[in-house]
Amino acid sequence: MGIVKIIIIALLVWLGFSMLKKLRRPSSQSSQSSQKPSTNKILSCSVCATHIPENEAIIQNGKIYCSKGCL
Ligand SMILES: [Zn+2]
Repeated sequence: MGIVKIIIIALLVWLGFSMLKKLRRPSSQSSQSSQKPSTNKILSCSVCATHIPENEAIIQNGKIYCSKGCL
């Protein structure tokens, strides 16, 4: 009977830890995903006013260009 009790307690402890891991992981993922939109800003071209993401924009002399054509 003693071994059965130990197994049940071990299972409960393991379940508790797995529940804590599940609860912690989504919070860390949501904080990472909330940081992503701030890094990928939407800028508007100073020539044709086209809205483009910051990583695709060409920035020269403090002005924003959507493509080499506008540059
Ligand atoms: Zn443009």
